[in-house]
Amino acid sequence: SKGRNNYTLFDSNMKTYSKEKDKLSLEVLLRRALEKKEFMVYYQPQVDLMKKKVIGVEALLRWNSPEYGIVSPENFIPILEENGLISQVGEWVLSEVCNQSKRWVEKGFPRIRMAVNLSSQQFLKDNLVEIINNTLIEFGMDPNYLELEITETMTMDVERAINVLGQLNALGVRISIDDFGTGYSSLNYLKKFSIHTLKIDKSFVRDIMLDKNDSNIVSTIISMAHNLNLDVVAEGVETKDQLDFLQMRKCDVVQGYYFSKPLSADDFEKSFYKINEG
Ligand code: C2E
Ligand code: CA
Ligand code: CA
Ligand code: CA
Repeated sequence: SKGRNNYTLFDSNMKTYSKEKDKLSLEVLLRRALEKKEFMVYYQPQVDLMKKKVIGVEALLRWNSPEYGIVSPENFIPILEENGLISQVGEWVLSEVCNQSKRWVEKGFPRIRMAVNLSSQQFLKDNLVEIINNTLIEFGMDPNYLELEITETMTMDVERAINVLGQLNALGVRISIDDFGTGYSSLNYLKKFSIHTLKIDKSFVRDIMLDKNDSNIVSTIISMAHNLNLDVVAEGVETKDQLDFLQMRKCDVVQGYYFSKPLSADDFEKSFYKINEG
């Protein structure tokens, strides 16, 4: 009701949802949300700095709640993780994204890469690879256009990660390490994982122009990634200065409010497919 990019952050109503009772009722609402199809996927464009165009999107979950409006995932993903619903929701996100990709292809839009966040519970499931494969087949999705974002923490069981990532690689999907540098880094194993992209967290990008440490970290991640033959995506790019810095350091792809906030599928279609055509 407050318009497209205004998220209800629960400030007034849900500040206290850490109380058991409130958490419980929120859980009930979230179960209902899944049944009543209140979840939505928003899409944030990813811009290739060499090609100077939108080459992909990151899919970001939203909850369109009748009570609270559009709710940001930070407010409900922890609860979904706690009550185990996150895998189900994650599987829904994956099929919704593949379905959306199919709809865009059918409308004659150029194919773009679809990046999807995986939760650790999804990553730990024995049938993860099977589910992903089935979803790709169901929607006739080209695996090369699906990028799965995982975090460093999910790769802590190194043997398992090598195995699962190898199987996903064999399917042809791309793998990106999300929030790179904020978690448990096993630089030692990075080269053993079948991955394609390192994604620099917005916490490093934010002060790139102010904090020498952050700009050094970002430069270092970019050159290390390139030495390992990986692509680099920087998230949280909000200003022209940040963009120029990243361009100078040869960052491959950027994502952030400077270009666009995450948008509903309709809004993305309206603004970005037109820009790319022109
Ligand atoms: P993330 O994967 O690190 O996603 C990037 C977050 O940064 C998104 O927040 C995005 O809206 C926000 N962002 C993008 N550009 C800018 C910018 O220029 N400035 C600032 N300050 N922020 C920017 P969002 O959409 O609220 O998502 C929060 C987190 O929730 C995500 O962080 C991700 O960890 C999780 N999440 C979102 N969707 C899913 C999903 O489908 N499954 C799972 N498991 N997690 C999800
Ligand atoms: Ca992400
Ligand atoms: Ca994340
Ligand atoms: Ca991040």
